Amino acid sequence: MSTLSIRDLDLAGKRVFIRVDFNVPLANGGQEITSDKRIRASLPTIRYALEKGAGLILASHLGRPKGKPNPEMSLKPIAAKLSELLGQPVAMAPDCVGPSVEAMLPKPGEVLLLENLRFHAEEEKNDPEFSKQLAKLCDVYVNDAFGSAHRAHASTVGMIAFVKQDAKQAAAGLLMDKEIEYLTKAVKNPARPCVAILGGAKVSDKIEVIQNLMKVVDRLMIGGAMAYTFLRARGEGTGKSLVEEDKIGLARDLMAEAGPKLMLPVDHVVAAELKAGVETQVVNTVPGSLMGLDIGPKTVDAYTQVISGAKTVIWNGPMGVFETPPFDKGTVALAKAVAASGAVSVVGGGDSEKAIKSAGVADKISHISTGGGASLEFLAGIELPGVAALEIGANSGEGF
Ligand code: AMP
Repeated sequence: MSTLSIRDLDLAGKRVFIRVDFNVPLANGGQEITSDKRIRASLPTIRYALEKGAGLILASHLGRPKGKPNPEMSLKPIAAKLSELLGQPVAMAPDCVGPSVEAMLPKPGEVLLLENLRFHAEEEKNDPEFSKQLAKLCDVYVNDAFGSAHRAHASTVGMIAFVKQDAKQAAAGLLMDKEIEYLTKAVKNPARPCVAILGGAKVSDKIEVIQNLMKVVDRLMIGGAMAYTFLRARGEGTGKSLVEEDKIGLARDLMAEAGPKLMLPVDHVVAAELKAGVETQVVNTVPGSLMGLDIGPKTVDAYTQVISGAKTVIWNGPMGVFETPPFDKGTVALAKAVAASGAVSVVGGGDSEKAIKSAGVADKISHISTGGGASLEFLAGIELPGVAALEIGANSGEGF
C-alpha cells in the first residue's frame, strides 16, 4: 500500500485542512512558547500549499485539556508565532468546528488556525459526528503530524473517510511523507548490512521493537540501562545497575531468538552513584556496590566497527545516562561513528535526538524522526492508524 503525497494533489483554489503538530512546550500559563521547533517543522508544507494557491485550515492538539476548553492550552499564542514566521496574517478561530468556524473559512492564500482539537472530547474518541464536522470544513485533507499518527483520533483518522467521500483527496504532508519514506525503507527494504542500536532505560518499553528489528537487521547492538537486564539473564553480575527483575526471563527468550546478531556491552563505565563529576571506573563486569552508567571503550570500539561497515543504521535510545557527563561519552562516540559511516541513518525522536544534537552531528543523520512514540511503534512493525488511513484505497467513500 502507498500513500499520496501533497505533491500529487492539485491544490489551486482548494480549501486544504492540514493536521499539524503544534503541541509545543508552553510557559507562563500558556502565554509563552518555549520552543517553536514543531511550528518551524510544519513551515515547508504550509508554504508549499500556499504557493500552490490553497486556502489553509490548520489544526492541532495542544497538551491534555481532557475534552474541555482551557485558556492555558489555547493555540492563540501559536497563531501569533506562526504569523511572524510566515510573514502573513494567521486568523485564529474561536473553536475547531461549528458555525463560528464555518464563518471564517479561508480564501486562497489565507491561513486559519483552529482552536485546540482536544477541547472537544470527541477528538480523542474518534467520534463520527465530530469527524464529519471537521471534514465539512475542507476540500482536501493533509496530515503532517507524524507524532500523532499512532493515535486513531477524529483529526488523524476519523475525518479522512468523510473527506474521501465525493472523490475528495487525502494525502501526507512533506514532513509526514519523509517520515514514511525513511522509516518504511529502513524496516522493509534496507540497504545491507542494516544494523540497529537500541538503548535507553527499559527493555519493557522496547520489547516489540527488539522482536521486530531482530527479523530485519543484521546486527542489533544493545546499550543503556536495558543492557543490564540482558546481562543478568546471561548470568553476569550487574551490581546496582538498573535491572527489570520481571523481564529477565523475557530477555533470555529474546537472546535465544536473536542468536549471535544480538550484541551486548563487553565493558562498562561504573560509579557508586549517578552524579556529575563522580569518580568513575571502567570494568568488564559491574561489581556489587557500583552501577553501570555508560558503555565502556571496548564496547564503543566493537559497536563502531559494526557501524562503520553498515549501509543502514537504525537508532533508538542512548547508550548511557547521556544527560550527566561523563556518562555521555559512549552515546556521543557512537553518534560520531554513525555520522562518519556514510550509512543511511534513521534516528528515533526524543532522547535519541537530543543525544545526536549534543554530539553535534545532527546534520549528518539522514533522518531524525519527529515522533518518539510513533517512530517506536513503526519500528515495532505496528501499523500506525494515521498512516493507514491515508493509504490509497483505505476508507474511500464508505464513511462509517
Ligand atoms: P528511553 O526513553 O527509554 O530512550 O530512555 C532514556 C533514558 O535512559 C535517559 O534518561 C538515560 O539517562 C537513561 N539511561 C540510559 N542508560 C542508563 C543507565 N545505564 N542507567 C540508568 N539510566 C540510563
